[in-house]
Amino acid sequence: MHRQKTGARAEYRQQETQRIKDSASLADKFPRLKSLTVDLTYYDPKGVTRSSQIKYKVNLTNAKSVFRFDCLNNECVRGDFDLSEDLANAIAAHRTSAVGEMCCQGWRSKTTIGTVQCHNILRYTLSLGY
Ligand SMILES: [Zn+2]
Repeated sequence: MHRQKTGARAEYRQQETQRIKDSASLADKFPRLKSLTVDLTYYDPKGVTRSSQIKYKVNLTNAKSVFRFDCLNNECVRGDFDLSEDLANAIAAHRTSAVGEMCCQGWRSKTTIGTVQCHNILRYTLSLGY
């Protein structure tokens, strides 16, 4: 029991890593998509304090269609941000940009599993080219 709890975070990360590895690349899954830039801003659960911001151009050949980003909470268990569906929807609708906000559904730490959720916030802008 104790060992299981200790490893919950690592185990989940490992599963996710495998899921990403097994997925098709963005270039293979969305041949119409020619360019993708992501602009990510991380916030604390209240959405007030900005903890980090990154913007980069995605390499469509290397990036996988399981399109997810790690939660910045180092203790977070089974959380993270999965933008796969939002990205797929934007491409299906031929949109050139998609803006959204996602709340981390993981647990705040391994000692609060079942009680306190992480709820870190990610605000994102996807810029798409065809
Ligand atoms: Zn989290």
